[in-house]
Amino acid sequence: MIVDRQGRQFRNLRISLTSACNYACTYCVPNGKRLVAAQDELSAEAMARGVAYLIEAAGIERLRITGGEPLVSPKLESFMGQVGKMGLADISLTTNGQLLARKLPLLIDAGIRRLNVSLDTLDPVAFRAIARGGDLLTVLDGMTQASAAGIKIKVNMVPLRGANLDQVMPMLDYCLERGYELRFIELMRMGHLASDSNGFLQQFVSLQQLLALIGEQYEYLQADAPVDATAVRYQIPDKGFFGVIANESVPFCRTCSRLRLSSTGWLHGCLSSSNRHYVGDLLDKPRHEALPALQRLLVRALGDKQDVAFSGGATVMKIIGG
Ligand code: SAM
Repeated sequence: MIVDRQGRQFRNLRISLTSACNYACTYCVPNGKRLVAAQDELSAEAMARGVAYLIEAAGIERLRITGGEPLVSPKLESFMGQVGKMGLADISLTTNGQLLARKLPLLIDAGIRRLNVSLDTLDPVAFRAIARGGDLLTVLDGMTQASAAGIKIKVNMVPLRGANLDQVMPMLDYCLERGYELRFIELMRMGHLASDSNGFLQQFVSLQQLLALIGEQYEYLQADAPVDATAVRYQIPDKGFFGVIANESVPFCRTCSRLRLSSTGWLHGCLSSSNRHYVGDLLDKPRHEALPALQRLLVRALGDKQDVAFSGGATVMKIIGG
């Protein structure tokens, strides 16, 4: 097993199935262009082989499928069919929910029992302004259908000053009423925001600010979370749970166990490092040739992790997969 000085190892793999997305969220894609897939994306077979090799070489236990938008990828069905048989402890998926109702049978057949749906507002005007694609009611309907089918839903919301701060309480109430767990994600200095400190600070909403807002209406208690969890989790007694992924306020680098594989075959050991390691060519090789080379790259990828805190990264989230 590959372990660093701080005792960290890769256990969680996030795969960006495609960089194409049917949204162009303002904080993720500054040029506003949707549905741009990289020319040299790996096939479903190569990506599934990548998962199999990384289970062996790194000890990956859990897989999250993300993007871009994974549900727009023609590779989805074949990829899910292959990774579903690999004995992983957990397979989950992050989606903007636009195609959720349509793809639900496929997801259920593939054994998906948990979904993260990204939704920043319940206001249709703000939705259009932030996502720059999609339709709010379609997302809400997709979540209702998935939940009725027994899938556990977490909702990811990035609170942004000047765009959706007034939606924090409506979103929380909406999720509490339906048994969805709302996850606020503190805005991260990724992509264009890494070099635009003013733009970042103008929009940034901290954990403390969120708790102050929620505390005006609800009493909450800190709840238990796994050691390598990214979210600080809270319980509102008799109502439910919410969490905050507080990259800036409560950095979780010391316990980070995440490894990312991009749709074009690059391994990223840390969101906050510009280092990446190409493994696309190794995925065509037989196991005995691929694994030793992969292990050497994994040592380097683990060395890319920040010691204490996330400091930002130029990589665009839709490439690396959130
Ligand atoms: N298309 C899928 C979706 O919308 O969930 C998966 C990819 S998206 C990049 C994954 C998550 O990253 C979304 O919840 C999105 O809000 C979040 N995200 C993107 N850029 C971000 C940033 N700069 N700071 C915080 N979260 C970000």
